[in-house]
Amino acid sequence: MKALVTGAAGFIGSALSERLLADGHDVVGVDNLTEYYAAALKRDNLARLRSERFELVEADLNDLDLPALLSDIEVVFHQAGQPGVRGSWGAGFAPYVARNIVATQALLEAARSAPRLTRLVAASSSSVYGDAESYPTHETDRPQPVSPYGVTKLAAENLTTLYGRNFGVPTTSLRYFTVYGPRQRPDMAFTRFSRAAARGDTIRVFGNGEQVRDFTFIDDIVEANMLAATVQHDAGSVFNIAGGSQVSVNEVLETLAEIAGREVRVERMGAAAGDVSRTSGSTARVEEALGWTAKTALESGLRAQYEWVAGALSSLDRAGIDWS
Ligand code: NAD
Repeated sequence: MKALVTGAAGFIGSALSERLLADGHDVVGVDNLTEYYAAALKRDNLARLRSERFELVEADLNDLDLPALLSDIEVVFHQAGQPGVRGSWGAGFAPYVARNIVATQALLEAARSAPRLTRLVAASSSSVYGDAESYPTHETDRPQPVSPYGVTKLAAENLTTLYGRNFGVPTTSLRYFTVYGPRQRPDMAFTRFSRAAARGDTIRVFGNGEQVRDFTFIDDIVEANMLAATVQHDAGSVFNIAGGSQVSVNEVLETLAEIAGREVRVERMGAAAGDVSRTSGSTARVEEALGWTAKTALESGLRAQYEWVAGALSSLDRAGIDWS
């Protein structure tokens, strides 16, 4: 297939692009290397994609001629976005609107007349649920985000579903539940925890550590995208993509200490506004429609991530990130 991956320099977009290239597909990657975290880390991600079948378009989706870009594309994997719950309050909100809502609407509009398009898979998020109505949460439960980030992801997802239902654009939204693994974003907990554990530093934890997450390994996320691109299903579908390893942050820290082979020191911080106490997704719908289930257990996925972080300490340190 000829695929367009938006956000190809990011954590999920680069892993997905790598898989597409390994499977023999042609990939056009779009990314403008936003300032949210160090461009050096994104350039490291891009370095893994060097291939004559990979073309990088270094530009903002909001500035591009999207109909021209989509003219020969068969599958769009829309992973570009402004992630992060904590930065989405206050003055930080504007890029969330531009990168999550406005860019998605422009892409969907261009997709309406893309001549070869068979599927547009978009990255949604478990954050659309907020403090969910029930656990495990089903796609039919009422979304009620508790962060501005979640509000923008829900708006983008609603647009994606609308273009599927109203115009027959073959869209699919995948609601990812906390994604982890090698090359995870530096602002995310497992990268921060692994780095501190590898260096023997104190780990700072928001809240009491009893918050429970349904963690999902990156390879399982990539596989869900591949199935969404190739298995027939309705336009406008929405699926939970949840790893099934529901553990508390404190349990993660215990597992990490075993992997690192040393005790980890923890400093407790106040709970962060917009963080939910629990996520847990039912995957019955995606299992039925696409045949997807998560395959990676937390212990082996966390070990893979720890090993990557331990081997990438110097590039993480050169990336100009405030680790405090
Ligand atoms: P990331 O920040 O590593 O990757 C996103 C990439 O998109 C970045 O490289 C950024 O430069 C690029 N980008 C942003 N706006 C752009 C624009 N307007 N034009 C071109 N490029 C742009 O984030 P990630 O963790 O890989 O997340 C990818 C997607 O998955 C996001 O949409 C995010 O909301 C969603 N998601 C992630 C998680 C997770 O746990 N990582 C969970 C749920 C949903």
